[in-house]
Amino acid sequence: MTDQQLRPDGSLRHLLTLEGLPRAALDALLERAARLRPLALGDGLRDALRGRTVVTLFFEPSTRTRSSFQLAAARLGADVLNFDAAHSSTRKGEGLIDTLRNLEAMGAELFVLRHAESGALAELAQHAAPGTSVLNAGDGRNAHPTQGLLDMLTIRQHKGEDFSPLTVAIVGDVKHSRVARSDLHALRTLGAGEIRVAAPPSLLPEARELAGTRVCADLDEALRDADVVMMLRLQRERMEEGLVSSLDDYHRDWGLTRARLAGARHDAIVMHPGPMNRGVEIDDEVADGPQSVILQQVSNGVAVRMAALLALSGHREG
Ligand code: ASP
Repeated sequence: MTDQQLRPDGSLRHLLTLEGLPRAALDALLERAARLRPLALGDGLRDALRGRTVVTLFFEPSTRTRSSFQLAAARLGADVLNFDAAHSSTRKGEGLIDTLRNLEAMGAELFVLRHAESGALAELAQHAAPGTSVLNAGDGRNAHPTQGLLDMLTIRQHKGEDFSPLTVAIVGDVKHSRVARSDLHALRTLGAGEIRVAAPPSLLPEARELAGTRVCADLDEALRDADVVMMLRLQRERMEEGLVSSLDDYHRDWGLTRARLAGARHDAIVMHPGPMNRGVEIDDEVADGPQSVILQQVSNGVAVRMAALLALSGHREG
């Protein structure tokens, strides 16, 4: 996978997953995003991608990711085409590869895609023309690399660049979460001290995906003295029936309330990738409380996506 993402000179060609991405590449993206952060919500870097075309194609719903990619591309001065997947010929059965070829024929080079099928975008990338890059904005349960990056940037801003003293708890529907998978890969690469995973047994992924983590039997164990608490959305659209008995039970056992958060370190940060099921996996007073960095994650998303677009386009500065 990594080979497919990197050019022979080690630069990034596609961004499909954080799995196996070398530490140097991960650090370079985070550092670039940190430098861009002050510009990301303001003036941008309007000459950086002038004359280049970014296409967003989302075959699954999105609020934050799609908007922030659009803003990131616009603030880099690119032409942005927001491909309307719902009304396009993909509905008439035109495949993803033909769609890519047609948009390439119009001069588009940077493709930001979201797809329900895990692995669909890595496969598509194999068919990309030499000057084309594919950026994964979420594929099934597999990967959401820019979310992983923005989560790491947010942790760095609060806890510093050395992750080795940190205890990070990832809580909730890990099984269906591409965010959790990307976060796990990044946290391992960055050397997080202790990675805890906590979920009801029906929502835990396969054991091999949990290598190097401590699986906690309950929420309080996961939260105890944690520095970072990452809550995940209960992904009911990806779930077979019966994995969770009821939302009330789930909230009782796994929902983050203010009282339970008190078990974490007093300066712990609370994260959530959105969209939140308020009152299910997280209470309002935590989501909107002083330890929440959830909106900062969203702001960081613009800088991270600018950094990713620049890296793939071969831009050196910024
Ligand atoms: N927005 C994130 C994603 O697309 C998280 C979620 O939907 O739960 O994966």
